[in-house]
Amino acid sequence: GTYRGMLFLLQEVTEIRRLERMRSEFVANVSHELKTPVAAVKGFAETLLGGGVKDEKTARSFLQIIYDENERLNRLIGDILELSKIESKRVQLDCSPVHIIEFFDSVLGTISKVAEKKNISLNVEVPEELFIEADEDKLRQIFMNLFSNAINYTHEGGNVKVYVKSLLKPDGSENVQFTVSDTGMGIPKKDLPRIFERFYRVDKARSRSSGGTGLGLSIVKHLVDMHDGVISVESDLGIGSSFVIELPLLQEE
Ligand code: ADP
Repeated sequence: GTYRGMLFLLQEVTEIRRLERMRSEFVANVSHELKTPVAAVKGFAETLLGGGVKDEKTARSFLQIIYDENERLNRLIGDILELSKIESKRVQLDCSPVHIIEFFDSVLGTISKVAEKKNISLNVEVPEELFIEADEDKLRQIFMNLFSNAINYTHEGGNVKVYVKSLLKPDGSENVQFTVSDTGMGIPKKDLPRIFERFYRVDKARSRSSGGTGLGLSIVKHLVDMHDGVISVESDLGIGSSFVIELPLLQEE
């Protein structure tokens, strides 16, 4: 009546390994991204401290670089903290009805100064009485990121537009579709599937010179996912890009 046997325990570790790999890649990327501005600040400060720079114009240009790189560092740290907060699921949605036309008025109020500097026109096409249930702060973060990119990657005198409409889905529920399009430089087809990845930049030099961190779109993607929405992108090189976001009109409990 006694049993003798063996117990085998098989554990599936693929997912754990994948997460571990992602984490170490993220740490490596972060370190690399942080090192670049820190090295620049150190290098230019050392040159100034060495006393070799005599004319004021060169000295000022070095100080400007130190200032700009410091700003970049600040943005990077802010974005990294934001992303890690979202990814660790420490942030929850705080939803309320948002009047979309008023919402865009206030968002564009903040960003219009930047557009004016580049002589870029901002246009909004939103139905008067449309509301959506969403977390307004996160919605703002989403569109500030998309507008900043659209302005950043569009030449002087270009056009940035947001177009909003409601869509009835086959199951009877309603979605709101937001399209942010620009007449900018566009994104090559081969890069499109990867631009929502952390630190992915189409052209490192182009993004760095415009102050980009490479994290904006991955933050946007997370925030859209949190709202049970989807984001997609279409782009033609040299003609422009359109980012399309579909969010449910109402958030499920
Ligand atoms: P960044 O901070 O570098 O702008 P993002 O994550 O916001 O990072 O965007 C990733 C990359 O996608 C950018 O580096 C840029 O090359 C490309 N990109 C994003 N938006 C646009 C746009 N509207 N037009 C052209 N390229 C874009």
